[in-house]
Amino acid sequence: MLVGFAEKLTFDNLGCLVDIPTGLSEASAEISRPFLSCVPPFIQIVVHTRVTMQPEIIRRFHTALPQVRNWIDRFLDAHADRARTVSTLGFTRLAACFPQELLERAKVVSVDRVPFPPVDQFGLPEFAPLQQVSFDGITFKDTFFLQQGRESEAIHFHELVHVVQWSQLGVDNFLLAYGLGLAAFGYAQSPLEQMAYTLQHSFEAGTPPPGLVHVIEQATDAIWSQAAPIIRGSLVGA
Ligand SMILES: [Zn+2]
Repeated sequence: MLVGFAEKLTFDNLGCLVDIPTGLSEASAEISRPFLSCVPPFIQIVVHTRVTMQPEIIRRFHTALPQVRNWIDRFLDAHADRARTVSTLGFTRLAACFPQELLERAKVVSVDRVPFPPVDQFGLPEFAPLQQVSFDGITFKDTFFLQQGRESEAIHFHELVHVVQWSQLGVDNFLLAYGLGLAAFGYAQSPLEQMAYTLQHSFEAGTPPPGLVHVIEQATDAIWSQAAPIIRGSLVGA
């Protein structure tokens, strides 16, 4: 689905993202360094995928942002009375990893089915298949929604990583970076998910990194520094 568009973004597993050459909007622009090069070394996220995509997808995603934001806000409002702060759940290992302030701010809601925004209604049919996926959890801002019966401490950890990512980037930049990652790599290989899964695995292995929140913030900034030029380049002349 992503092959054959006007602007080609090529990634490999060496080096850093390079600037898209100017004047190549109608031609191929090669990016020979990976999406993630500056993350802390223990987060060994290696991008093997070679992808092509076109800036038009990013422009449509950008146009859809107000609708996505509005849907998220309404969804959060509709579930606010069922949200519990993570600090009340008694997860001692989470308390050892994350600061109390975060656990008191982050909220969780158990749901029959984890929602995904109706992106097909927002002019983003490329992402519509995700609406059919049964996710264990999803995070919107500082609140995450978990599938009933699958509320392990590890999934709480995973979603808390996303809470920190949302806080670090802000709503619009998180959505843009997440959408770009989905479009370029698919769900499992998207950089913000790879970070969450990699850290979750370290948590499950009993070896989460010290200074976890700072590590997430640094890695998130690194992702944004790689994504922003691509997004800006796509929006030029839109
Ligand atoms: Zn995730």
